Amino acid sequence: MKEYTGIAASPGISIGEVLVYTQELYIPNFSISTLQVELEINRFYEALNKTQDDYKEMQRKLGLELTEDESKLFDAHILMTQDTTFFNNVVETIRETKKNIEYVLYNIIMDISAKFTQQDDEYFQDRALDIIDFGRNILRHLLQQKDFSLSQLDKDAVIISSDLTVSDTASMNRKHVMAFVTEKGGRTSHAAILANSLSIPAVLGIPLVTKEFKTGDKIIVDGDTGIVILNPDEETLNDYSRRKTEREENEKKLKTLLERSSDTLDGKHIALRANLEIPEQELDNLMEQRPEGIGLYRSEFLYLSRRKQSLPSEDQHFNTYKVILERIPEDKVVVRTLDVGGDKILEGVTEREPNPNLGWRAIRFCLDNKDIFKTQLRALYRASMYGNLHIMLPMISTIDELNETKQLIEDVKKELKKEGLAHKDRVPLGVMIETPAAVMISDTLAKNCDFFSIGSNDLIQYTLACDRANSRVSHLYQPLHPAVLQMIKITIDNAHKNGIPVSICGEMGASAENAAILIGLGIDELSVSPTNILKMKDFITNIKYSDAKKLADEVLTMPNQAKIQQRVEQWLKKHIR
Ligand code: PEP
Ligand code: MG
Repeated sequence: MKEYTGIAASPGISIGEVLVYTQELYIPNFSISTLQVELEINRFYEALNKTQDDYKEMQRKLGLELTEDESKLFDAHILMTQDTTFFNNVVETIRETKKNIEYVLYNIIMDISAKFTQQDDEYFQDRALDIIDFGRNILRHLLQQKDFSLSQLDKDAVIISSDLTVSDTASMNRKHVMAFVTEKGGRTSHAAILANSLSIPAVLGIPLVTKEFKTGDKIIVDGDTGIVILNPDEETLNDYSRRKTEREENEKKLKTLLERSSDTLDGKHIALRANLEIPEQELDNLMEQRPEGIGLYRSEFLYLSRRKQSLPSEDQHFNTYKVILERIPEDKVVVRTLDVGGDKILEGVTEREPNPNLGWRAIRFCLDNKDIFKTQLRALYRASMYGNLHIMLPMISTIDELNETKQLIEDVKKELKKEGLAHKDRVPLGVMIETPAAVMISDTLAKNCDFFSIGSNDLIQYTLACDRANSRVSHLYQPLHPAVLQMIKITIDNAHKNGIPVSICGEMGASAENAAILIGLGIDELSVSPTNILKMKDFITNIKYSDAKKLADEVLTMPNQAKIQQRVEQWLKKHIR
């Protein structure tokens, strides 16, 4: 038995078996004898046929979901498996060099892809990615290594990985992923946020787990404390099984709060809304928690959860928003416009940048790609007919970005009118406050929009110059740092001075110790992952706003997170039974 401690990123306890998930391929390199040459060539053809069958099967399974472009892409992959120039090249190279097929194939694929990459044309850059994907698929058959796409998982497992991309997490088969543990990542990385929304316990930032853990090992993952136990003894197993049952019983007790309004004991209403990423997977559970609508729909997951990442059409956008609005016709539904970039890479659409969080992200990307942005705005305005839609803009740092978007909205409305497409005349427009610049101009922004939502995940990273997804600096990622609290205070004061509401939709709002201060500072709404709604309702309904206000005034004078945290803990002990 061995115990590890990492970052507690998504709550819950799981007890199960390890599956080490790695995308790395080990390419053996050895010489073969003349007698082995034909055998090696046969292995190549067998792997090629299997790859072709895989593509056909995948195309058949996904048939209904594929757009015309994606379907063509599959056809292109199938054509690659029939390309005689390519086969002849592989076969001749095996004959000439007398090297094993994996080595020969790997080098040929890398050569072709490098030739594509050198072309200064997006089309060829995409083909370079396709050829690598194609090569990997043949190599997997040769190496008898399964393509561990987490979407194809067919038995329960705790996933151990160096890192998980947002698309890995978005496409994983929720039914079988019991928990995940990674070497990299932070509490507010998007993979962690998704784990929360999908109620998958997760612990991040434990070095070397992919080397030290083996597929089939027994494991306990405690997403509440960040503890991971490898091959636990009998006593530990019993202890955690008991804790897991207790947890489930507590969750059942919280259900008694479903009908209750989220008011403090002295009558201040704090709206509790839900964050949403993948409607198909989350909406049913989300609705069961009875939130007052959606405080943040991260619409980029419409792009990221698709198997082949590509841009959705206006109708695909429209249908998704319509489904959400029809499920929640009265309460507010806040759709945040496309926030790609940072750790949310769209292959072939956004670029890998040296400083992705400071780069071509969110509103910056959208305003530079007006066609993409307009497609989304058109769909949003068309969908506005089906409920109480609000639109929110991510990563605003200048008033010009807000004004330019408003102009675009006017253009979109004119177009829709001309085309006779129904839409509301006005959809409330909000700004995410997630850069220090937005905080400092929040008075001006508030005069020009309808609501604010504090994106604390980013606001903390930008205020403290601390990458939210880098486990090495996670100790500096401090929600209760005095600088962060000052930023939040300025934002709330400026919003209220101008008569607009402020919500917080970052992870910070989902813990009692942070929320005590946020409520004291005057926050109007908390938007949290569905799993946290009843927990936060339990908290809100047990405190007085007047006490929280005193606490906030007091901690604003304190010098560091440690002292603030200590004070809040004392406060919670006194005020929460
Ligand atoms: C945030 O930054 O707090 C936020 C809610 O947006 P995201 O986590 O998607 O960047
Ligand atoms: Mg953000």
